[in-house]
Amino acid sequence: MYTRQGIRDVLENNQLAPKKKFGQNFLVNQQIVQAILHRANPAPEDTIIELGVGLGSMTIPLAARVKKVIGIEIDSGLVRWHAEEHDLPDNVTLIHEDLLKSDFPLLAAQNGGRLKIIANLPYSISNPLLFKLLDNKDIMDSAVLMLQKEVAERLIAAPSTKAYGVLSVLLGACTTVESLMKIGPEQFHPRPKVDSLVVKITFNPLPKQLKQLPDYDMKLLKALVKGAFGQRRKTLLNSLHATGIKNLGKDEVRQVLAEAGLAESRRPDQLTVAEYINLSRIYGEK
Ligand code: SAH
Repeated sequence: MYTRQGIRDVLENNQLAPKKKFGQNFLVNQQIVQAILHRANPAPEDTIIELGVGLGSMTIPLAARVKKVIGIEIDSGLVRWHAEEHDLPDNVTLIHEDLLKSDFPLLAAQNGGRLKIIANLPYSISNPLLFKLLDNKDIMDSAVLMLQKEVAERLIAAPSTKAYGVLSVLLGACTTVESLMKIGPEQFHPRPKVDSLVVKITFNPLPKQLKQLPDYDMKLLKALVKGAFGQRRKTLLNSLHATGIKNLGKDEVRQVLAEAGLAESRRPDQLTVAEYINLSRIYGEK
């Protein structure tokens, strides 16, 4: 793979100046890429979906370790460059598309049922991607993601902390999130302004059995958690009432909270994942 200077040269010689709108920060250090892959630990028989191929800093070493890589890249200049350079190994298929529009269920159906993803992506699309992963949780196996450190911390935050939010709860309900390694701005070209953290999100195939949580409806849970955190400083009673979910009046919300064993005066960011799931189950019965 290329060094920082090598990447600069390729970009310059091919009119591929890093594009801000595509959030391009290319990895420049072979050892860091190998360390990420070592921690991600894909199996030799895996098919991996790589989101945001760039110049292939991750793609080529990844392809050497697994059966097949399907790369998705939005930048037509980069896709053309790979086609001309023939630099990607035979077990890599490059698809030119916007990953936010990719048909994940179709990709899963074509590749053994469940998706394994790896991505060093623009930080501006990490939230929409995380919600897309949640929407597809039943066909997701795992996702190794390079994230802005602050975003990664939100995914693993505990209740009653500033970082605890919608994604902490929703991911907590169906995944296990591990922090793999911290990566500084010097490992990229151009250098981002923030620190990064690589996380591995493992989707639980059987959350109920594994975590002893009651059954829940993800759509309702999402509406509830988004609604409640929309007013995270209000009391639970007021913030849930304000969501308008199921058109419950204040007294009916009181009733729900009593059934859930939750004090009305608690704040939305104090509830555990299990408490939110239980709450969504009771809402579901209304
Ligand atoms: N993974 C490479 C490139 C990182 S830069 C590396 O680590 O070196 C991020 C890459 O994601 C860029 O190549 C950018 O063009 C691509 N990208 C940005 N938005 C995208 C989107 N919506 N769909 C697909 N690729 C995208």
